[in-house]
Amino acid sequence: MIIAIDGPTASGKGTVARRLAAHYGLPCLDTGLLYRGVAARLIREGDAPGDEDAAERAARSLKLKGMDESELRSARAGAAASVVAAMPRVRAALKDLQRDFAAQEGGAVLDGRDIGTVICPDADVKIWVDADPAERARRRHAELEGRGEDISYEEVLAQLRERDERDSGRPDAPMKRASDAHLLDTSKMSIDAAFEEARRIVDQVMAQRRA
Ligand code: C5P
Repeated sequence: MIIAIDGPTASGKGTVARRLAAHYGLPCLDTGLLYRGVAARLIREGDAPGDEDAAERAARSLKLKGMDESELRSARAGAAASVVAAMPRVRAALKDLQRDFAAQEGGAVLDGRDIGTVICPDADVKIWVDADPAERARRRHAELEGRGEDISYEEVLAQLRERDERDSGRPDAPMKRASDAHLLDTSKMSIDAAFEEARRIVDQVMAQRRA
């Protein structure tokens, strides 16, 4: 079973994906980490964020194992990730890695922006996880503060809007809800409630497929 989870930043898609993967005993790939990994490498090596040659090289040499999540989760890496993610050569370089992950025996859960539309258009279940921008900014702000980053709520909200615009406005694989994706609006939901609703969607879709 392949489960595709997409949605904007801080919508809760990562948590929903991880909880679903644990529940169904499937491997889980947070595809945002790949773009963050490419961006972090450019930052580390002093390359310009817009250098597509360097970004493509970084994407081609990226390994899933050994990525330092704490470095990749920073606001800086997130913003830079959305710049390299708009580069068609970077997206092409990361495609096989994601498709190979999805093709594992038994299936997988992948979360990102284009999983249901581009990476796994034939996924068994697609869920589009969304929430109000103000609520998403509140969550992201709390997360960043918890990790010791000194950033205001207003700044987080502005960055989030900018990232949404860049992700949904790019010509190559824009962030978009697949026409057959189920909507999960987590604005007023706890993490447990969001997971329960996602599980209900998956069980219902799989039961319909078996019928
Ligand atoms: O999900 P996360 O915030 O970690 O993603 C960081 C950035 O990577 C996103 O803003 C987006 O630009 C990019 N991304 C993407 N396609 C994916 C996953 C992430 O373009 N499948």
